[in-house]
Amino acid sequence: MKTDVAVIGGGAIGAAIAYFLRTHPRPCEVAVVERDPAFRLASTPRASGGIRQLFSLPENILLSKFGLEFFADFEHAMAVDGEPAPIGFTRGGYLFIVPPAAIPVLQANFEVQQRHGVDVRWLDPAGLKAQFPSMYVDDLGAGVHSPTDGWLDPSSVLQGLRRKARAVGAQLVTGEVAAIECEGKRVRRLKLRSGETIEADHVINAAGAWAKEIAAMVGLTVPIEPMRRYEHYFEPATPIERLPYVKDVNRLAFRPEGKGYTGGVPDLAEPRGFNFEVDHDYFERVVWPAVAHRFPPLETLKLKNTMPGLYDQNELDGNPILGPSGLENFHLAAGFSGHGLMHAPGIGRAFAELILDGGYRTIDLARFGWQRVVDNKPCRERGIL
Ligand SMILES: Cc1cc2nc3c(=O)[nH]c(=O)nc-3n(C[C@H](O)[C@H](O)[C@H](O)COP(=O)(O)OP(=O)(O)OC[C@H]3O[C@@H](n4cnc5c(N)ncnc54)[C@H](O)[C@@H]3O)c2cc1C
Repeated sequence: MKTDVAVIGGGAIGAAIAYFLRTHPRPCEVAVVERDPAFRLASTPRASGGIRQLFSLPENILLSKFGLEFFADFEHAMAVDGEPAPIGFTRGGYLFIVPPAAIPVLQANFEVQQRHGVDVRWLDPAGLKAQFPSMYVDDLGAGVHSPTDGWLDPSSVLQGLRRKARAVGAQLVTGEVAAIECEGKRVRRLKLRSGETIEADHVINAAGAWAKEIAAMVGLTVPIEPMRRYEHYFEPATPIERLPYVKDVNRLAFRPEGKGYTGGVPDLAEPRGFNFEVDHDYFERVVWPAVAHRFPPLETLKLKNTMPGLYDQNELDGNPILGPSGLENFHLAAGFSGHGLMHAPGIGRAFAELILDGGYRTIDLARFGWQRVVDNKPCRERGIL
C-alpha cells in the first residue's frame, strides 16, 4: 500500500491528525495504523477528559482554546450521515488553588492567561469560601477560576474522531508496525507484523506511551516514557455544592462525574514502564487524605473504581515533541504528558499546516520541536502542571 502520510497510532492524536489532513483545502492521502482498534491499553479512553486554558505557555493556552471551540461544536461537526457525535461536553470550569508561597507563580500565569483572552477570575481565600462553602481555605493563598473550561467523555471523542476521519477519507488500518525502513535521511516504508508494507512520504509517530519504541525503529532515542497514573471514581455520602475541575496543592485533580467525582493524584516519582497493576492502597494513602483535607464534607466518600492508564511523559519538560525529528520526514507527535486529549484538535490542525502548508499557520509550535531535545533546552510550563 502507498499513501502520502502514514500515522502510527490511532488514538486521539492520530485520529485528529488524520481528520485535519483530510479536511484541509488541499487534502492528502492518509493511513492511520492502529494495532488495537479496541484501544484496551491506549491512554485516550483512560483519560479524565479535562480541558483547561490554565497554562503558562501561550502555546498550551492557545491549543486549549482551539480544543474548547472544537469540542463545543463536536457533536454536530463530527456527525456522519446525519448521526451526531455526542461527547458529554460540559463547561463546568476549572479551579487552580495554591498555598501563599505559590501566589507569585499563579499571578504571573493569570496575567499571561488574561493577555490571551482567557476568562479567568482571581479568588482570595474569602472569595473561594464564598463560592465553594465546603472548601477548607485556611492554608490557601489564592485560586484562579476559569468558568469556560470543562470536560468531556474521552471514549466518545475517540470514537467520534475516528468515525469522522474515516468518513472524510482517511484509511484506518488495523496492524502493528514492526519495523520502519529508511533510505538515506528519509523514512520510506512501514513494515507491519502481518508482513504488509505501507510506503509513505511522511510518517508521524503518534504512538503515545509507545512513541519511544517507534522512534527506536529509526535509531532515534526520545525522552518519552510511559508513566502510570490512576483515575479514581468516588462518590460522596452526601452531596456538596457543584464543583469545577479542581486542581489542588500537591497535584490532586478531580471533577464532578455522575453522582460523584473522577480524578486522582499523579505521582511523578512513579517508576516508568508499561505497568497496569493497581496498587489498591494508593487511594487510601494519597488521594483520600488530600480530598478530605480540602473538602471535609467529602471525608466519608466511597471509592467505586480505579483505572490505571499511562501518560506519555516527556522527561525533558512535560510538553509534546512535534514535527520532524532526526529524519526529515519522520515526525513526532508525542510526549503530551497528561494534556494530549485537550490538545488533540490543535495538534491535528498543526500537522495539517506543517505538512500541507509547509509550516505552522495558526499557532506557532516551533518551540515544541525536536531541536530543543537536541540542544537539551527544556521548554517548561511554569508552576503547577
Ligand atoms: C489517568 C489519565 C488521565 C488523563 N487525563 C487527561 C485530561 O484530563 N486531559 C487531557 O487532555 N489528557 C489527559 N490525559 C492524557 C491523555 O490521555 C493523552 O495525552 C492522550 O490520550 C494521548 O493520545 P495519543 O493518541 O497520543 O495516545 P494513545 O491514546 O495511547 O494512542 C496511541 C496508540 O498507538 C498505538 N500503538 C502503539 N504502538 C503501535 C505499533 N507498533 N503499531 C500500531 N499502533 C501502535 C496504541 O495501540 C495506541 O492505541 C490523561 C491520561 C491518563 C492516563
